[in-house]
Amino acid sequence: MAADTNPFESLQSQIDDAAAHLDIGDGVIERLKHPERVLETNLTVELDNGDLERFKAFRSQFNGDRGPYKGGIRYHPAVSRDEVKALSGWMVYKCATVGIPYGGGKGGIVVDPTEYSESELERLTRAFATELRPLIGVDRDIPAPDVNTGQREMNWIKDTYETLENTTEPGVITGKNITSGGSKGRVEATGRSTVLAAREAFDYLAKDLGGATVAVQGYGNAGWIAAKLIDEMGATVVAASDSSGGIYNPDGFDPVAAKKHKNETGSIVGYEESEEEITNEDVLTMDVDLLIPAALENAIDGELAEEVSADVISEAANGPLTPEADAVMEEKDVFVIPDILANAGGVTVSYFEWIQNRQRFAWSEERVNDELETIIVDAFDALVETYEEHDLNNPRTAAYVVALQRVADAYNEAGTFP
Ligand code: GLU
Repeated sequence: MAADTNPFESLQSQIDDAAAHLDIGDGVIERLKHPERVLETNLTVELDNGDLERFKAFRSQFNGDRGPYKGGIRYHPAVSRDEVKALSGWMVYKCATVGIPYGGGKGGIVVDPTEYSESELERLTRAFATELRPLIGVDRDIPAPDVNTGQREMNWIKDTYETLENTTEPGVITGKNITSGGSKGRVEATGRSTVLAAREAFDYLAKDLGGATVAVQGYGNAGWIAAKLIDEMGATVVAASDSSGGIYNPDGFDPVAAKKHKNETGSIVGYEESEEEITNEDVLTMDVDLLIPAALENAIDGELAEEVSADVISEAANGPLTPEADAVMEEKDVFVIPDILANAGGVTVSYFEWIQNRQRFAWSEERVNDELETIIVDAFDALVETYEEHDLNNPRTAAYVVALQRVADAYNEAGTFP
């Protein structure tokens, strides 16, 4: 783990790599490398035993040139100002890569949610929502789930906002329960785009996905759904890990049964179809056709990258490769489908949820999945076109070239104010 790689610096170097292929003025690039604003707040919450505890929290609004700020809120002890800034920037370029009308934002609370009761987490979430209320809004900034948050937290935020604003406005936040205005297909969307992008990459590289072996690092919402869907496409999932360790079976295992085991015991480790217990690093360096990193940023640094044996990587996590790791992949000719395309299904179906909320009309799951597929396939095609046109050997740079140009165009078209 390259804990010392600052994700905000990674984001800036990714932008620089792409800017070198574009004719965008230095002043505009400088603007596009920094957030417009960052809220840093301290939330004081009453615990169940009556004590008060202080929690640090952030919301970064990186760029709004293409639409309202959009992006999740994570609960994790490693949340920091720079991490949130990086994640908000990645949202800008993700939304631009898939061409949905949003800018980028991200929030986080420094907390290990496993150490608190449900009612403590509800008070914490409502305290954050109260701080966020003046900044968010259906046309201003629309939060969503991220690491360790989900429908429950989104429902609480929606309710806090609606109560304080004395209105009903489900589109102020996405990733809600269906009964609270969520969209069908939203929970599966990140994993779905990760495998759709992998399918397109295998097709482009003339590789057979049906005969492919797959390793998945991280078995949360994105990772386990990706494992399930890629298994349904005929590939063989041979390895997976979560924060407790990894499992391996050279003949493949049933991803759904592995998830069931995790739900029952708290981890995939010990799952009966596993032939061997392996480490998280073993999963990342396994000799497979497709690797899906689906945990946190900086999972693969330059050193570990030397050991990576996969042919294709589809990034379900945000920022799982450091820039040094990216350079090694380029040398080794590993095709990396960047996070800003591979995991963009989450925010894309958030966009569909927001449209449905605004129209007060629900789509079928089939419509959600069909429209998601169209967006991911079109974005992959645009990436490949740019990759070839600019003679690039890093697909991430191609995605940033597409995205950066779109954001810069929107900024320039708006003219100068004041
Ligand atoms: N947190 C997710 C991401 O990193 C989803 C964001 C959203 O739906 O707005 O893309």
